Amino acid sequence: MTDTKKVCDLCGLAVETPGFTLKTKDGDKAFCCEGCKGIYQLLNEDQFLPESDRD
Ligand SMILES: [Zn+2]
Repeated sequence: MTDTKKVCDLCGLAVETPGFTLKTKDGDKAFCCEGCKGIYQLLNEDQFLPESDRD
């Protein structure tokens, strides 16, 4: 299995826990915690794709 560690798109720390992700016009974003995800959402409100686009 290839080790493809992501880094948080807000603070740059390693993403240890999967699940804090968002789909945006700029691609999939991953975050290290709920806090970073929330802040990113606030800063980039208009960048998100509709929830219905998730699978
Ligand atoms: Zn973070």
